[in-house]
Amino acid sequence: MLDNLARARPTESGAEVVGAVRDIAARELVPLIQQIDVEGHYPESVMRAFGRAGAFATHLPQGGDRADLGTAIRAMAAAGEHCLSTSFCMWCQDALAWYIAASTNDGLQGSLGRRVASGEALGGTALSNPMKTFFGIEQIRLRGKRVAGGYLVRGLLPFVSNLGRDHYFGAVFEAEEPRRYVMAIVPCAAPGVTLADNTKFVALDGTRTFSVQLRDVMIADDLVLADPSDGYIKRIRAGFVLLQAGMAFGLIRGCIALMQQAKAPLGHVNRYLDAQPETIEQELVAMETAVAQLAATPFETDPSYWRAVIEARLAAGEASVAAAHAAMLHCGARGYVTTGAAQRRLREAYFVAIVTPATKQLKKMLAEMGH
Ligand SMILES: Cc1cc2nc3c(=O)[nH]c(=O)nc-3n(C[C@H](O)[C@H](O)[C@H](O)COP(=O)(O)OP(=O)(O)OC[C@H]3O[C@@H](n4cnc5c(N)ncnc54)[C@H](O)[C@@H]3O)c2cc1C
Repeated sequence: MLDNLARARPTESGAEVVGAVRDIAARELVPLIQQIDVEGHYPESVMRAFGRAGAFATHLPQGGDRADLGTAIRAMAAAGEHCLSTSFCMWCQDALAWYIAASTNDGLQGSLGRRVASGEALGGTALSNPMKTFFGIEQIRLRGKRVAGGYLVRGLLPFVSNLGRDHYFGAVFEAEEPRRYVMAIVPCAAPGVTLADNTKFVALDGTRTFSVQLRDVMIADDLVLADPSDGYIKRIRAGFVLLQAGMAFGLIRGCIALMQQAKAPLGHVNRYLDAQPETIEQELVAMETAVAQLAATPFETDPSYWRAVIEARLAAGEASVAAAHAAMLHCGARGYVTTGAAQRRLREAYFVAIVTPATKQLKKMLAEMGH
């Protein structure tokens, strides 16, 4: 069944998928960037086009423990060169597809899993809260009560992105007797689910990010991904974290392009700045190489592998903020006007450093791993 999902686009190689995403982004995404950033427009048609191009299918396991996240990361980066909101929506979609494909729920894989992998069904992931819970940062927000045929789930999640009435998201709730965590898919259309759009963000506002209330939502057994979920979460966590590198790499490449563009009018003075695009490019290529290597074995269980994933994610977040800061200094006043790309990239960059696992969580995790 996993094979079927991964082969959703059997004729397309990784390079073709990334090339198609690049073309769609140039044609359909670039004209929308201001609308996404200023008006919070959700780029749904672009997301669907990416899905048809195979962007949400290449990272899925090809039977057993074989999976390579490299193409998905590069596709996300191709969109992220222009717009981090869109690239983050791609991550949400990739993560949802990843959860389903890495589970042992054959029914979900053959139905919703296929639709998510092709972009026909859209959705996201509510794993920030559990990821923080597992590492001792906050309390679990969803609780499930066992009833005939499934669970009644209640609780409030402050932010879940890439949602809509007909979308889906992966979530973790705590169940009793025995006390354990369960991971499942929540359909936004299920009775008892309320999506509230009451927050305005400084960037990433086009990501359809809602506060989600669940009031005794019936989650049937056929929506369960793992019960108990401990082993399964260990299996999916490296993929969850590594895929986020696509957002960082796209944003950094976009910042390098801004610095290069500023060279013609301002190169005579920009050359005195400490951070130069050529150095940032070299650092980016080194990070891309390290992540590509890690992304080729996302089910690796060795603790040193998990540590390397955390280190790579931390470096990607810090490099995003540094690159956007450098782009701002290179662009000067032309980046400081409300329509300037550099100020938007700077606002976007902080998201890479605060989305779970945030810089502070990554540093806590590394401190607790010891040497
Ligand atoms: C645009 C956007 C999209 C997101 N999308 C998702 C998603 O799809 N899925 C997902 O699981 N998470 C999502 N998040 C959450 C994100 O991953 C982080 O968990 C979040 O940014 C906070 O992480 P942190 O570790 O820095 O926690 P901190 O910010 O240090 O602490 C988080 C705690 O602060 C509380 N809090 C939040 N806002 C306020 C406020 N205005 N005043 C007081 N307290 C507040 C929260 O309830 C939470 O308990 C999103 C966040 C943003 C900003």
